[in-house]
Amino acid sequence: MASNMTNPANHLPYFFGNITREEAEEYLMQGAASDGLYLLRQSRNYLGGFALSLAHGRKVHHYTIERELSGSYAIAGGKSHASPAELINYHSEEADGLICLLRKPFNRPPGVQPKTGPFEDLKENLIREYVKQTWNLQGHALEQAIISQKPQLEKLIATTAHEKMPWFHGRISREESEHRILIGPRSNGKFLIRERDNNGSYALCLLNDGKVLHYRIDRDKTGKLSIPDGKRFDTLWQLVEHYSYKPDGLLRVLTIPCPQLGSENDNVVFNSRLPLPGTPSKSWAGGGIISRLKSYTFPKAGSKKLQGTIGHSPDEAPFNPYVLQRKRGLTGAEKGDQREALPMDTEVYESPYADPDEIKPKNVTLDRKLLTLEEGELGSGNFGTVKKGFYRMKKGAKPVAVKILKNESNDPAIKDELLREANVMQQLDNPYIVRMIGICEAEAWMLVMEMAELGPLNKFLQKNRHVTERNITELVHQVSMGMKYLEENNFVHRDLAARNVLLVTQHYAKISDFGLSKALSADENYYKAQSHGKWPVKWYAPECMNFYKFSSKSDVWSFGVLMWEAFSYGQKPYKGMKGGEVAQMIERGERMERPEVCPTEVYDLMKLCWTYNVEDRPGFVAVELRLRNYYYDISH
Ligand code: ADP
Ligand code: MG
Repeated sequence: MASNMTNPANHLPYFFGNITREEAEEYLMQGAASDGLYLLRQSRNYLGGFALSLAHGRKVHHYTIERELSGSYAIAGGKSHASPAELINYHSEEADGLICLLRKPFNRPPGVQPKTGPFEDLKENLIREYVKQTWNLQGHALEQAIISQKPQLEKLIATTAHEKMPWFHGRISREESEHRILIGPRSNGKFLIRERDNNGSYALCLLNDGKVLHYRIDRDKTGKLSIPDGKRFDTLWQLVEHYSYKPDGLLRVLTIPCPQLGSENDNVVFNSRLPLPGTPSKSWAGGGIISRLKSYTFPKAGSKKLQGTIGHSPDEAPFNPYVLQRKRGLTGAEKGDQREALPMDTEVYESPYADPDEIKPKNVTLDRKLLTLEEGELGSGNFGTVKKGFYRMKKGAKPVAVKILKNESNDPAIKDELLREANVMQQLDNPYIVRMIGICEAEAWMLVMEMAELGPLNKFLQKNRHVTERNITELVHQVSMGMKYLEENNFVHRDLAARNVLLVTQHYAKISDFGLSKALSADENYYKAQSHGKWPVKWYAPECMNFYKFSSKSDVWSFGVLMWEAFSYGQKPYKGMKGGEVAQMIERGERMERPEVCPTEVYDLMKLCWTYNVEDRPGFVAVELRLRNYYYDISH
């Protein structure tokens, strides 16, 4: 499997990455520009797009390859192809609009790697800062957010990153922009970008010989940005990057971002190894403005700037599909959002006790007066019922799910079981695990938990057949993250199954039901059951059945079955078979077949989880990484 977020062209020897059109021409000239000589490079104006440079008649022709919404690639007006490589193969046999056939690739000289774009270099840092500030996260919660939502965050960053750039001044008047540019040194090429209205049009304000020029930047029907009659771009930062290495119609190139007075702009650090602003840059080869930024700090959450540029008041018509509207407690039922809710947007991403104002009650026992219960049941079992309720906390009433023990059962064993479950849950704190808020002894024993409104994964998928393969991969990857956390902390779940994965939203899963879970002792990495119990045997590994031994590795086996259930849209595993028959089938070396819509990469991983020998079976560290990489690959 490819490593995370690889470029779909990186493996091609004739792919040069983020080089300019002029650099491409120079390379092809080195190859004598013979007819049909070509190379591939990254598009500098379309996200995820490419450019094909092709020599013919001693001239170089350039074609833009756009990445279409469906994920395929095409030269404007041409046929769609699954990958850039397939497009190249096609045009090696059919000119189909090109000036000539692609005859010979111009390969990268030895030692030359595809050039990474300026944004690629900054991206990791950008994402981290963005998540930190937007959701006020740190440490483990921050890392987990980045790992699970990387594809969504990259998109978000790509379309909103300009808001964090020093040259972006937001909604200011033309007069104000001139005022700002004329303060301080009046170096040629000093510039800023301001927002003109809410329809996504901007203005580029550029200092030229003491006078400020204003260029309109309009957004066309397809969302692309351009200066009248100029090149079109997906994002403002690509536009700035372009005009900072060549004027291309402007009176001059962009050189220094106009600072925002008294702002976080003080934190902009220029990379001194690259040409400094003001240093006359010889040509395009020096790289653009973004390459010269080494780092910068985001405005603090809650500052005027963040509210002013990221949020929109409800009466404003939003233009950007990824504009972040911070909504807490979104459920999958709320449609018409500008973008799907990320786990971090919900109330249950962090523990309510992560709030320094909220003190965790002693012995986690809750005050009954702060708890209200609703009619109706979320679920039930032989222990009793699960009801929805609200628990009053400092920040307001928190929706909770309450496991209530049957009152009539005076069986102390059932109460002990609930207390054991509570004891395990109390020790866990992870975004992908249902947290316990506390226990309450009143008219009955109650276990108060975070609410996962959309309920069990298997039932949800049975009712929602439209859920995509990518969406399912996202969810099972989150489960693997929660399981990796359990493994790290030496807990075995022992009842991992799709019915015990609950959904907060369609894109946010949590592991629940710790009724059978055990904390492992320091000297053993498995739990030995005294006797066979009421076990979910279709989810159990051979060593559980044969030796009553339970470990994180046996949870991995269950996780394989869970993935099978998920990709089968909630069907029952080993349909129509008895527990004993399943055990015999496993002993014979047979395994369940691949579900109809299951990608082979995932099925291979399932089979790996169903490795007979515990020692040869992977742990959750390896499983999570495999799923993560696959998820990133398909989210590209
Ligand atoms: P059991 O031991 O009977 O399997 P579970 O803990 O799995 O008990 O809970 C039973 C059912 O109650 C679940 O299938 C689910 O429908 C509902 N439920 C449990 N916990 C929650 C929760 N935190 N949020 C929403 N529903 C829940
Ligand atoms: Mg259950």
